[in-house]
Amino acid sequence: MARWVCLDVGETLIDETRVWSTWADVLGLSRLTFMAAFGVAIERGGEHRDVFELLRVTDWRRHYPAVEARYGGFRPEDLYPDALPAVAGLRRRGYRIAVLANQPAARTAELRALGLEAEVVAMSDELGVQKPDPAFFDRALELMGRPDPHDVAYVGDRIDNDVLPSAAAGMRAVWLRRGPWGVIPREPPPQASLVVDSLGELVERVGECWAGDAASASGPDRPGGRP
Ligand SMILES: [Mg+2]
Repeated sequence: MARWVCLDVGETLIDETRVWSTWADVLGLSRLTFMAAFGVAIERGGEHRDVFELLRVTDWRRHYPAVEARYGGFRPEDLYPDALPAVAGLRRRGYRIAVLANQPAARTAELRALGLEAEVVAMSDELGVQKPDPAFFDRALELMGRPDPHDVAYVGDRIDNDVLPSAAAGMRAVWLRRGPWGVIPREPPPQASLVVDSLGELVERVGECWAGDAASASGPDRPGGRP
């Protein structure tokens, strides 16, 4: 049975510096101030909306159309340089590729237009469910044609939205340590089957997600879904 590599988008395939800079610009805040608040929110275990609360921007949702208009969707320069080569490398090694993430619906077509080749691409806004909801990962498996969750490696930069819920869904969780959510937390959680610093490293090491399978193939899953 073919194995799948399921990739997150923000800070996994796409560098989100430009979208958050756009938010700062639209809100009339210096980018330095905005990014500093972002770091505080992450350190406190918070969400995007906590950034706006920290900066006392109560009506941030009202600015969403202006941000989207100025941002204009993903551009080639937003892709991390290793993103498309890694997808190609994983495909050459026989993995099927899914890209499933918390993003606006339009990002699916934008990613395809950037040259992303994947069997499945879908964003939370078109699925009507988002990470870390377990229903998101169940929907992901459905879109992949219901493979055994153990045959799926979910790769993302966030412990809370990617590593923990994908491991809880029985997938092999890969923590990609880049972007603010990947850099600020100090220790990898035990639920991570693999920790990598780049997608290039992922291509070389993804097989390690299943390294312990032969020894424990007949046993029940251990807590956290580690191999
Ligand atoms: Mg992400």
